[in-house]
Amino acid sequence: MRFKVDQEINIKTLETFTTNYVSAVRLTMDDGSQGWGQMSTYCSDITTQIFHRQVAPHVLSKVFTDFEDIGNLILEREHKFPGSYILRAIAGLDTALWDWLGRKSELPVTSLIGGSPGKVPAYASSMKRHISPKDEAKRFSKLRDEFGFRAFKFRVGAECGRGLDEWPGRSEEIIVEVPKLLGTGVKTMVDANSCYSAEQAIDLGKKMIDNGVSHFEEPCPYWLPEETKKVTEALEIDVTGGEQDCDLRIWKDMIDKKIVDIVQPDVMYMGGLTRSLDVARMAELSEVICTPHTANLSLVTVCTMHFLKALKNGGEFLEFSIEGEDYYPWQKNIFASDPFAVENGDLTIHNTPGWGVDFNQTWLDKATYQCSSKND
Ligand SMILES: [Mg+2]
Repeated sequence: MRFKVDQEINIKTLETFTTNYVSAVRLTMDDGSQGWGQMSTYCSDITTQIFHRQVAPHVLSKVFTDFEDIGNLILEREHKFPGSYILRAIAGLDTALWDWLGRKSELPVTSLIGGSPGKVPAYASSMKRHISPKDEAKRFSKLRDEFGFRAFKFRVGAECGRGLDEWPGRSEEIIVEVPKLLGTGVKTMVDANSCYSAEQAIDLGKKMIDNGVSHFEEPCPYWLPEETKKVTEALEIDVTGGEQDCDLRIWKDMIDKKIVDIVQPDVMYMGGLTRSLDVARMAELSEVICTPHTANLSLVTVCTMHFLKALKNGGEFLEFSIEGEDYYPWQKNIFASDPFAVENGDLTIHNTPGWGVDFNQTWLDKATYQCSSKND
C-alpha cells in the first residue's frame, strides 16, 4: 500500500535482538525517534543474517518518503533472491516502520490504516495434531467456558501428509466430536495443512458440512492451486488458504482465479504490514474476505489485530493460538506486559501509540545483539 509519510524516513541504525525463534528489530531515525518490529519466527538467527546483509544496507544508504518504496527497492536490489527469507527479514523493518509512525503520530497502527482501537473477536486456534478428538473437544469446551471463545479451529489430516491421517480415523472422528461437544452457536473450522487430494478433501468436506463445520483451510497442497479450486467449487463451506504465499503475482492469480473463498496472508511471511495491505486490497476489489494467518503469540498476532481491525473485507474472527508453554516455550516473556488478554472471546487493541507493546528488557538482554548503522 502506498503510504506517504509527510516527513523524511532517514534511518540511522537498525538493531536486532535474536534467538533461534524470534528476532526483534529496533529502528532509530536520524532525529532519534524509534520504532520496534519483529522478523518472522523460526530460524530467526538465519533471517537476521539476511537482515543485516541484504536488507539494512539498502535502507541505510538512502532517504525515503513512503514504506512501499523501501520494500520495493530492497526487492529490486536483491532481485536474484526472491522468496521467503528476504521477506521474513523485510517484515522486521516494515513492522518497525509502522510502529515508529504510530509512536510519532501518537496513534495505534490500526488508526493509521483506517481502523480504530477496541475489541477484536478471536477464534481459538489449535496447533496440535497428536491430541485425540475427545481430548481436543474437551480442551475447547473448557476454553469456551473460561474465555468465552465463540469459534474454534482444529486440525485434520497430517501436515503435508500426502493423503494420510495423523492416525487412521482421527479426522473422521474429530469432525464429529468437536462440533458435538461444543453444540450450536459455536463456529467450528478445520485446517488440513496441505494434506489431501481434491477427491479426498471433497469427501471429508461433505462430512464436515453434515456436522456444521464452516471453514476448510488448506485442503490440498498449496502449491497445487487447481486442486484447491476443485474443492472450493465442489463444497458449500468456505475453502481458505494462502498463509505461505508471499509473492504478489501468486496472490493476484489466486484471487483472479477464485482458488479459495477466503484469503489468509501472514503479515510476517508477507514482508510486513505494507504488502499484507496490498493483498487485502486486492481481495477487497474482488469481493473476497481476508482472514489473516497468525499462528503464534509473538508480534505477528499483535500486528494482525491492528491489520484485521482496519479491513473492510476482514473475516469475523482473528486467529488466536491457544498453545502455551508446553508447545511453544519460546513465546514466554517476549513482551513487557501481556497484549493477549481474552475476555468474552475478544482481544483488545488499546489506544496506545504504534503496536502498543514493548519487548521485555530481560528477554532482550538474553538475545544476541547485532547493529547495522549508517556509518558502517
Ligand atoms: Mg493454516
